[in-house]
Amino acid sequence: MAGTSIEWTRGEDGRPGKAWNPTTGCDKVSPGCGLPRFAGDATGGCYAMAMAWRLKAMSQAKYQADGDPRSSGPGFGLTVHPDVLTLPLHWRTPSRVFVDSMSDLGHARAGRGFLARVWATMAATPQHTYQILSKRPERMRRVLSSAEFQDQMQAALGQLAEDRQARHGRGAIQQAPPWPLPNVWLGTSIELDCYTRRAGELRATPAAVRMLSLEPLLGPLPSLDLAGIDWALIGGESGPAARPMDLGWARDLIALAQQTGTTVFVKQLGSRWAREHGGRGKASNWDDWPADLRIREFPDARGRQRMLRIPARRAGVRSTRPGTPPVKDPRCQLLTADTRGHLAERQDPSCKTTSASGTARPAAPRRRPGPGARLSSPAPSTGRCAPAGRAASARPPARPAGRSS
Ligand code: SF4
Repeated sequence: MAGTSIEWTRGEDGRPGKAWNPTTGCDKVSPGCGLPRFAGDATGGCYAMAMAWRLKAMSQAKYQADGDPRSSGPGFGLTVHPDVLTLPLHWRTPSRVFVDSMSDLGHARAGRGFLARVWATMAATPQHTYQILSKRPERMRRVLSSAEFQDQMQAALGQLAEDRQARHGRGAIQQAPPWPLPNVWLGTSIELDCYTRRAGELRATPAAVRMLSLEPLLGPLPSLDLAGIDWALIGGESGPAARPMDLGWARDLIALAQQTGTTVFVKQLGSRWAREHGGRGKASNWDDWPADLRIREFPDARGRQRMLRIPARRAGVRSTRPGTPPVKDPRCQLLTADTRGHLAERQDPSCKTTSASGTARPAAPRRRPGPGARLSSPAPSTGRCAPAGRAASARPPARPAGRSS
């Protein structure tokens, strides 16, 4: 249990969020999870799986169960951890909490009864905001839509209150929380166009805030429908073997989000972009990015209203490879304030940016790509949606890459 440096779990004051893993381990389901299961994706993959390999070697108790070598790995077998279920009850400071950063709560081996206890803890701690991503949104829809599950959660909530009363002499736990829980943001991940159906599953699931993680973005998403989606996270893959993300794909998604009123958070441009521009890491410092991509918005806890966050640093775009990246043109920046007085910079879509060499170029196109739209290189990593069923490689990625779920 620890804090996490993931940018989109930070609080409004910039404080890091927390990670809470009631389950650990998983099995790969699609190319965003990387090798070994998906032929054609010889690189990248689930950072959690690579990290579990190391944590097992370090004798960490939570990472001793091995997963199926065809789809998982050492230390990454799906394991439930009832002993950490009540941890958030002890966190007094309201926090954003990334649930299952090392797993996928939608995994079939996380039983409904256990999930009901996870939801009961979240219901009992309305001071926290929980962020859940799953690449198995169809199961999440089935579970969360069922009246039986709500009854199970209610029973688990009653048990929590009894335990608290017995141990601490107090049982101040809300016993009839609204449904869906207002402090739970539910999401799914989409990396390729053939997985955009996951957004439909998410739309059909009861949730106070619906979020999409479009990371690692491995291709354009011309079929994506953002209607009913509150938050879109966009990011390129990280790690030494990261697959490329074309900035045009991200720009198309930003334009689409502006049409539907979906808040957008561009997390990182990915390790390939960083290396191509003479830098290191995963290009998560937006001071280095083209100005039109520097968008980091959070949805309001009530879902629809926009709330914008001030960037950590306001310096102009720094060129890490002289001559090519654009430099910030102050005439293109719009400063906007939300109802709480928070300020944020946005790119004026009608404006032009200027390259370091002084050549003006038009602002990013703001259009929704039609079916079969052709975007600039590189080509998507793979268009395949079905697992190849290849055997696992004997070694994990050299370093954690991509992200879980
Ligand atoms: S990326 Fe997510 S769904 Fe894929 S293996 Fe990792 S935890 Fe599981």
